[in-house]
Order: sequence, then structure tokens, then C-alpha cells
Amino acid sequence: MKWSWRVGKIAGIDLKIHLTFVFILIWYGLSTYLGGGSLTAALTNVLLILALFFSVVLHEFGHALTARLFGISTRDITLLPIGGIARLESMPEDPKEELLVSIAGPAVNAVIAGGLFTGLLLSGFFNPPLVMAEMLNNFWLQLMVANITLVLFNLVPAFPMDGGRVLRSILALFMDHLKATRIASYIGRGLAVVMGIAGFFVNPWLILTAAFVWFGAGAEAQAAELKVGLKGLVVRDAMVSQFYQVEANQSLSDVFQLAMSTGQENIPVVSNGNFLGIIRRADLMKAIDRLGNRAPAYAAIGAEPAGLDLETPLDEVLPKFAAHRALPVLDGRQLIGLVTSESIQQRMWLNQRMRDGSNKPRTGESTDIA
Ligand SMILES: [Zn+2]
Repeated sequence: MKWSWRVGKIAGIDLKIHLTFVFILIWYGLSTYLGGGSLTAALTNVLLILALFFSVVLHEFGHALTARLFGISTRDITLLPIGGIARLESMPEDPKEELLVSIAGPAVNAVIAGGLFTGLLLSGFFNPPLVMAEMLNNFWLQLMVANITLVLFNLVPAFPMDGGRVLRSILALFMDHLKATRIASYIGRGLAVVMGIAGFFVNPWLILTAAFVWFGAGAEAQAAELKVGLKGLVVRDAMVSQFYQVEANQSLSDVFQLAMSTGQENIPVVSNGNFLGIIRRADLMKAIDRLGNRAPAYAAIGAEPAGLDLETPLDEVLPKFAAHRALPVLDGRQLIGLVTSESIQQRMWLNQRMRDGSNKPRTGESTDIA
């Protein structure tokens, strides 16, 4: 994530802190101090936030280390003002494993809260006489309450928050994964609306969380649809093998003519049969503006993605479309095809029709992808 610093490595996982998190600390300390609090009060508040976020780090490690038990590694853990994010390579396919990974985070906070409660109890904190104001100011009690809040908040079944993942995995025990994800994401989106509205009255952080849940639920549902749609498909299945190409020393105006007359969005450039790169429509216009239309085709080639292999599974190819509109399929240095997001969509559509065994779209089933 941009604007985050690596502060250390624990159990082989990078721990990062986002810049905004540092701002929150400073703002929280300053606002206590300027609001008439003593320097000690300001520092205590900062310490409390740090302790709270330390609890969040432990929560994320709860997820990450449980996932590791199932052979899933974690890229990094980042602290943001709205909480922590553990970027797991994937979620377990097995619902029981997902259930354990999801619940491990809140379980860590429950253990912390239990530990603090026991400590306070043993230290005689709850012995009478009880002075309410003094109790509420106690650092350890505040940390305990914060951890209990973390448990309760995370267990709200707003997919893709932890509670929502727990819900999805329980549903997936009784139905297929896609259906479970759809139901969980509908519930997640419903709760996001409630949270967003409540945010206006209670706490603006809730609005941020609601936005995270809303978009997260949509993205997860879409990813699940894709996963099913692409199951068993490889590059060979979605490759366009009929296309026009240009030689490296042909002029940009030739490339333009070709693009116009064929409607082909991406024009591959070759030299003596060897693939050099692809000129995308937008890059072509820019290159003509910059270099003139007599410049050679190879001058307009952008940064090239690595070539694909015929047998690469399509779900591995998909993330690469964020940066590239078309991906080359190579046999050695020779270009044998192109894969585009459109060609994948069409293949998925066909695949789904074949699986359904009919030409009629089933009601309520969406085949489109963005
Ligand atoms: Zn969590």
C-alpha cells in the first residue's frame, strides 16, 4: 500500500504502518493536550491508542498464523486508522478452515480482554468501595473495554469483516461456495447501509467502515463469480489467435490505418517473426502526437507484460489486466495469440452456457464481469 512504512518483520511477516495512522496518534495526543488535559493525560491517551493498535496487530497475527497452519502465507500486515489489514495470499477453500482463520482474530482480542480482566480482578480493582470516575479512568480497564469492543464489532456479520466471513463459511457448510458468498454479501451490503446511516449520528468512523464493507462485499461476490466462471479454463481456451500485426519499422501512420480499418484495439509489433510488444489504441495516439506519424512502430511500444503460456490457468491471468489491456501468448519468442478481458468474458459466457446445458440464461444469474 502507498504511504506505508515497514517497521519490522515478525514471524516472517512484514509489519507496516500507514502514514495516516501516525497522524491519528499526533492528532489524538494534541487534541487531549489542547483540550485542557495535562501532558500526562495526553501521553496516556497516546499510549492507550498504541496499546489498542498493538491489540489489533495481535488480532491480525491471529488470522495470519492460523492461515499458515493451512499452508496459506501472508504478504504483510498494515496498520490503518480504521484497523489492521492482513493481506493473506488467499482464503482457505474449505469452509471449516475459513471459519477458523476468520474467528482467530477476534478470539485473540477476547483472550487479551480476559487476561486484563483477570489481572484487574486479582489486583483487587473490583473490590469495594468502587469509585466509578476513578475506575473509568483506569488505563487497563479502558484497554479491556477497547478489546471487548473489537471482539463485538468484528463479529458483526458484515461481510467481508470477520463476522461476515464467519457467516459465509457457516453458510458454505450447507450450500455451495458461490451461493454462500452471494447471501453473505447481500447481508454485508445491507449492514453497510445501516452502519453508514448510524455513522452520521454516532461516529464518523462508522461511515468509513461502511464504505469499506459495501465495496468489499461487492468485490468479494464478483471474485467468487469469476472463480466459478473460470474454473478449469486455461489461456488456450480464451486466446484470440486471428489478429493483425505490424513490422517494427512500419510507420505509425501505417499502424493507425490498420487500427482504423480492422477495429483491432491492440496491434502487436514483430521483427523477423519475433514478438517485440503491443501498441494500444491510446498509446498510438500519444506516440503520433509526440513523435509524428512517420516514426517507426517500435517507438510506440509501452512497457510489456511477460508473455503467457498456453496452459496458464485463467484465474492467475486475471489480476494482470489491472495494468494491461491485452496480454501476449508466446511460444518461445513467437507471438501465437492475444488474451484480452473481452476474450475471457466471452469464454466464460460460453462455458457457463455449456455447464447449464441450455441456451437460456437462468434467472437471477449474472454472467457479466467488470
Ligand atoms: Zn480480523
